[in-house]
Amino acid sequence: MLNYSTIQKADPELFEMMMKELRRQQGNIELIASENFVSEAVLSAAGSHLTNKYAEGYPGRRYYGGCEFVDEVENLAIARAKKLFGAEHANVQPHCGSSANMAAYRALIKHGDTVLALSLANGGHLTHGASVSFSGQDYKIVSYGVARDAETIDYDELQAAALRERPALLLAGASAYPRKLDFKRMKAIADSVGAFFMVDMAHIAGLVAAGLHESPVPYADIVTTTTHKTLRGPRSGLILCKEKHAKAVDKVVFPGIQGGPLLHIIAAKAAAFKEALAPEFKTYQRQIVANAAAMAGAFVRQGMKLVSGGTDTHLMLLNVAVCGTTGKETEILLDKANITLNKNTIPFETLAPSVASGIRIGTPSVTTRGMKEKEMETIADLIARVIREKDAAVPNVKKEVAALCEAYPLYEGS
Ligand SMILES: *Cc1c(COP(=O)(O)O)cnc(C)c1O
Repeated sequence: MLNYSTIQKADPELFEMMMKELRRQQGNIELIASENFVSEAVLSAAGSHLTNKYAEGYPGRRYYGGCEFVDEVENLAIARAKKLFGAEHANVQPHCGSSANMAAYRALIKHGDTVLALSLANGGHLTHGASVSFSGQDYKIVSYGVARDAETIDYDELQAAALRERPALLLAGASAYPRKLDFKRMKAIADSVGAFFMVDMAHIAGLVAAGLHESPVPYADIVTTTTHKTLRGPRSGLILCKEKHAKAVDKVVFPGIQGGPLLHIIAAKAAAFKEALAPEFKTYQRQIVANAAAMAGAFVRQGMKLVSGGTDTHLMLLNVAVCGTTGKETEILLDKANITLNKNTIPFETLAPSVASGIRIGTPSVTTRGMKEKEMETIADLIARVIREKDAAVPNVKKEVAALCEAYPLYEGS
């Protein structure tokens, strides 16, 4: 049970806003693929007095006094991260996935070097080369994509692009790609042109930790991730790398691009890694994948079209353009019915990204609430009804959403 009685007394105005957001999280079906609900243990570490401590530097070599206990905390987080992913070195200080990526690029390559990365339109992330991101501004980005028919990454085409472009860095990883990635093959492609190989496993880190997706750690020079998606930790970042890159990575994170680490968030990461090391986490990740498969199956039975025909991860992309609507319209209508997700471009998109032909659906959050295959089929049915009947479906769907949320409470008693 969450206890906010002090903030309620000290700042009722803020408390009110926080409660509105809590009720929204409790009363909505959350299908944003990059979100999750952390445990109360993770929340209490994140909301702790560790926020008071300055600790620039690394355990044992800080620029401030009084760091003996936060050193223990950071060392614990590092040890657990290394154990969880079998990594030689871990840096737990990145404030988010984007800063982890900035650090990884800077540790491996120079300003202006060529990076070969998955295009945004095909599921890549902003930090994989968007012109509005540091990545697109600081490096020469060449994009690879998916094959037109299969809508999965065309590795032969990727090999050809590598030979043509001779990148300094090959980047794997995605924000909206429903299939498994072949890290072994991509490492061979990177090696064939003498490029570094970096994997951004932000979306799939939980699956990797549970052994449900091939780990990139044995193959990649550097692996970056967020800790708040399938991994179900606090909103933050993490870098794993081979020992030979450890010094460069640490130097870039601090003092290169960050100041003092957020020890309260590092403590929350340590708590989340402990949860991820426990056997129940495997069961949870298996259920995420089973739930995504069940929902995808239900959409296919409804005659709807999924990018690449399905999923083998925690997320899927539903092509709603073939149903005569747009991602934007679908997102807005579902919002009215208290189903939260985001519009998403699909491969070979013909609409503007702000409109988009698809929606992205992920199962980590509903799985955290305890929902299983049967509920996934119900949710797919609710979404299909809203897509087909539009506003007319909203009142009834909203009622069913409320019933589902009540049956699977979040932060019970709060
Ligand atoms: C979410 C995500 C990130 C960035 O995470 P932030 O913490 O929001 O900066 C980076 N890479 C990928 C592939 C992601 O999906």
